[in-house]
Amino acid sequence: MRIVRFTTGEDPQYGVLAGDLDEYGQPEPDAVVVALAGDPLYVGVRLLEQQHRLADVRLLAPVLPRSKVVAIGRNYAAHAAELGSDVPAEPLMFLKPNTSVIGPDDAIAYPRQTQDLHYEGELAVVIGRICRDVPVEQATDVIHGYTIANDVTARDLQRSDGQWTRAKGFDTFCPLGPWIETDLDPQHFVDGVRLQTHLNGDVVQDASTADMIFDVPTLIAHVSSVMTLLPGDVLLTGTPEGVGPMQVGDEVEVSIAGLGTLTNHVKAR
Ligand code: MG
Repeated sequence: MRIVRFTTGEDPQYGVLAGDLDEYGQPEPDAVVVALAGDPLYVGVRLLEQQHRLADVRLLAPVLPRSKVVAIGRNYAAHAAELGSDVPAEPLMFLKPNTSVIGPDDAIAYPRQTQDLHYEGELAVVIGRICRDVPVEQATDVIHGYTIANDVTARDLQRSDGQWTRAKGFDTFCPLGPWIETDLDPQHFVDGVRLQTHLNGDVVQDASTADMIFDVPTLIAHVSSVMTLLPGDVLLTGTPEGVGPMQVGDEVEVSIAGLGTLTNHVKAR
């Protein structure tokens, strides 16, 4: 099932995106959103009679992280190498504030404090229930679904600050979407799913999730051994090689096979 959050100009609602995806992973032009009664994370999937054409709604970030976005650094060896870093012996965690989240087609605001704003296309995991100390073999039980993230990073501030709160934490630095796919197993991403990032139409990242150093269950076990995860918390699983700068006016698209494409543009803050 594909869970969306959307607006028709009124208050945001949740819905289910019906229909098939085309060969590029985009919804068919006549795709329909069936509205839901409340947030399916808390009340389950309760379909309403109300339907909208996808073309008639604006999609929003499909989840508002309840307490945090937990992100993983250097989880692809080739990306660690391109930054001149070693591969960590255990997952390297950091936090992005939930105020950094924006939705599909929202603008990434280029802060005046940086001169080196980078995209980082990533697979995102949405947590479905409160959990702590989750064993690897039970990690699937706490996953609500998967979506796409762009872990926007002020690379110069990441280097100069020594820790990453400012470099990763500006408003608009966590685009999420376009929907949450709830029907996939973590093994699907271990087997390998293609992740691509396009900048103004050019391919800049092209990798397989099979190249993650620590897989999704291992990350959930590791993170939940440190902090309680709440329903609606989001885990970013790291970016592959090919990170690079964005400029004001650029369009950045992150695509993951089966999860669609997350598109945003960059504007001056
Ligand atoms: Mg990242």
